[in-house]
Amino acid sequence: MVTINERIERVTALVSGLRLASVDLESLYSNKNLTPLESVEVFLSEQQRLRTEKQTLIRRKRANLPSEKTLETFDFGFQRSVSREQMLRLYDMTWVEQAFNICFLGPPGIGKTHLALALAVQALNLGYAVAFTTLDELMVTLKTSQISTASKRRIKILNSAALVIIDEVGFMPLSTMEANLFFGFVSSMAEKTSLIITSNKGFDEWADFLGDATITTAILDRLIHHCEILNMTGNSYRLQHRKTITQY
Ligand code: ADP
Ligand code: MG
Repeated sequence: MVTINERIERVTALVSGLRLASVDLESLYSNKNLTPLESVEVFLSEQQRLRTEKQTLIRRKRANLPSEKTLETFDFGFQRSVSREQMLRLYDMTWVEQAFNICFLGPPGIGKTHLALALAVQALNLGYAVAFTTLDELMVTLKTSQISTASKRRIKILNSAALVIIDEVGFMPLSTMEANLFFGFVSSMAEKTSLIITSNKGFDEWADFLGDATITTAILDRLIHHCEILNMTGNSYRLQHRKTITQY
């Protein structure tokens, strides 16, 4: 005769052997109101809940967002070249399903990264795989892909994402080799993955930092084919809302 404690031990061993999440078997056992089938249902739905929770955490970690921004904290009264309605229309993520791109263009401090992050957070909440990188980081990742396991892993994450955010495009001039790597990356994403690009340079200035007119045309051609372009203007939120040490 197997005692109840032995039974719990055996079930616990099975749960861990099957790599399921550990659940409170004692309370499941002591709930006398449940029929055997109901117990199975409670057990499995708890497993499903824990798995979803774990996947959500993993997805958030892989996304590597520098911070989580939302539209609630965005002052559309201050930034008038984009409307809340415009952003909310993008919140259903149908454009990600269609592998459309979004470009936020405009001077520093006007909320390009904030809005890109708000869309990234919404995509994560809806269950999409997301990956955030700056162009600088992307260059390092691509250049070290042959020698670094961390870069290899990052590239896998970028390749399997439904939405990739490339932040700060245009801050630094690229070498010809880097411009080619950027073109290769944008091409590999085309029609399959949505890109959100933020840039402090208008498209007419891209050749300046990409260094080559042909490669610029090739990159923009891929990027703009299916793309929502948000030309943003205005003053820097950072400068207007500058906090000083003595203010506190
Ligand atoms: P950009 O990417 O255009 O340089 P950011 O999105 O990084 O600018 O914005 C700079 C900082 O100011 C961030 O902390 C951001 O959250 C904040 N910010 C910018 N615009 C707004 C806005 N309209 N309302 C609230 N916060 C804003
Ligand atoms: Mg930015």
